[in-house]
Amino acid sequence: MTALLQASGLRKSFGGVHALAGVSFTLERGELLALIGPNGAGKSTCFNVINGQLAADGGRVLLDGVDLAGRRPREIWRLGVGRTFQMAATYASMTVAENVQVALLSRERQLCGWWARASEQHRDEALELLRLVQLHAAADAPCATLAYGDLKTLELAVALAGRPQLLLMDEPTAGMAPGERNSLMALTRELVRERAIGVLFTEHSMDVVFACADRILVMARGELIADAAPDEVRADARVRAVYLGNAMPGAGR
Ligand code: ADP
Ligand code: MG
Repeated sequence: MTALLQASGLRKSFGGVHALAGVSFTLERGELLALIGPNGAGKSTCFNVINGQLAADGGRVLLDGVDLAGRRPREIWRLGVGRTFQMAATYASMTVAENVQVALLSRERQLCGWWARASEQHRDEALELLRLVQLHAAADAPCATLAYGDLKTLELAVALAGRPQLLLMDEPTAGMAPGERNSLMALTRELVRERAIGVLFTEHSMDVVFACADRILVMARGELIADAAPDEVRADARVRAVYLGNAMPGAGR
C-alpha cells in the first residue's frame, strides 16, 4: 500500500545554512510520528516544506502518492494536510463550539464572514468533535475563559474539523505543564488510531515523545540521524551524542 506521506531527498537552504540537507522518511496511516532534534535542526522547515509554506530547493513530497510540488498551502490543505495553529486572538470572543463550527464551515468554503451564522451551522458535528477531545462541557463558554491547556486542546479540535488525513503539529504543547502535555499527546494518539490519520509532531519533552510516539525521527543540522522505534532511538549512539545523554529517558540504564 502507498504510504500516507513520502518525503524524499528534501533540501532547503537559507543562505549558507542547510536547514534540510536531503531528508527522506515515510509516514503511515494510523501512525504517530515524532520529529525531534535540537533548536535549529530543521524541524519547522520540514513542516513548512510539507504543507507548502516554503518551496523546497529539491526533493519530493507525496501525499497518498500525489506529488505536492508547486501546490499552494490552501490546496495542500484541501488535499488533506492539516496543521495545528495558535488560536487567533480574533476568535477569543466566540464560544468553544463556534470556533470548531467556523473551522467546519471553512472546510466547505461557506465562510461568509458572518460569525453569527456559525452559531447554527454544524453545531452537532462541532459538539461531536468536542466530545472526542473531551471539551464538550465547555462548548458554550467563551474561548477567552478557557484555561491554557484547554485552549491547546481546542486547537486540536479545530485542526480535526478540517478533516485532515495528515496532521502536522509543530510544538502543539508549547507552554503547557508536563502533565497536560502527556494527556494532549495521549489523546492525539487515540485519535490517530481511531480516525486512521497520520500525525507528525515536534515536542520538547522527551518523556512525552518516548511515551507517545510510535516512531521517532531525529534531526541534527538538517540531516536525519535516526528513524526508528523509541527503544532503538534511545539506544542510538549518534542520538545520545546530540542530546549529550541528558534528555533521553532511560539513558544510561
Ligand atoms: P527547528 O524548528 O528544528 O528549531 P528550523 O527549521 O526553524 O529549526 O531552522 C533550521 C535552520 O534554518 C536554523 O539555522 C534557522 O536559523 C534557519 N532558518 C529557518 N527559517 C529561516 C528563514 N526564514 N530565514 C533564514 N534562516 C532560517
Ligand atoms: Mg521549530
